[in-house]
Amino acid sequence: MVRFDIITLFPNAFDGIFSESILKRAQDAKKVVIHIHDLRDYSADQKKRRVDDRPFGGGPGMLLSPQPLFDAIKKIKGRRKAIVIYVTPSGPSFSQLHAKRLTKLKNLIIICGHYEGIDERVREQLVDEEFSIGDYVLTGGEIPAMVLVDAVSRLIPGVLGKDESLVNESFEANLLEGPQYTRPADFRGLKVPDVLLSGHHKQIEQWRQAQAVQRTEKIRPDLLQKRRKTS
Ligand code: SAM
Repeated sequence: MVRFDIITLFPNAFDGIFSESILKRAQDAKKVVIHIHDLRDYSADQKKRRVDDRPFGGGPGMLLSPQPLFDAIKKIKGRRKAIVIYVTPSGPSFSQLHAKRLTKLKNLIIICGHYEGIDERVREQLVDEEFSIGDYVLTGGEIPAMVLVDAVSRLIPGVLGKDESLVNESFEANLLEGPQYTRPADFRGLKVPDVLLSGHHKQIEQWRQAQAVQRTEKIRPDLLQKRRKTS
């Protein structure tokens, strides 16, 4: 089981995505536990529930202040051993390897930034890991947090059903997944490759591998280089 605690200014943003399909099933089966925390509940100023302020030295926008985040993390952590993650465009790129590693850590607290981000002292003192979900800037950390929870949860043993396999997926062995087809074998004249209909398992496997390499070569040659280095 992995427990996620998500600290956000927008708790309702998570309603849809966490209450559908595989993530819902994973929670029902207690493989995944998700708690959403409203950062404003931890503001020392409960009248205005203020959590942000202007950056020292000037500049545009607002930053999330240290006090609500320090207090939220202290309360949420309690006596548990938990890893604190900040999702930020200035973190290392989140990958399948990170997702696999995080499944082993069991207690993950995710900070969703907003406005211009968070006070650096939170990053220095409380954050254990940082991840970016890509080289672009989003308005807040809610979507990146959902990405992390989804990517990690589906790797927890027993979360995917037997029809949803992790085998041969993109990024396994530094390869993208090759093309896949379902019925009908002839859709408006568009035919499925003969080999897939042959019933010849070895040839099918060889074809899939060759297609995966070809696709990776075309779209992500960097992955093939990594593959050569590790083999
Ligand atoms: N001023 C920040 C910078 O230039 O790095 C960007 C702040 S962004 C508008 C607000 C929040 O969205 C961030 O604190 C972070 O939590 C989240 N965010 C935006 N883009 C992200 C990305 N690519 N990966 C992870 N988190 C992101």
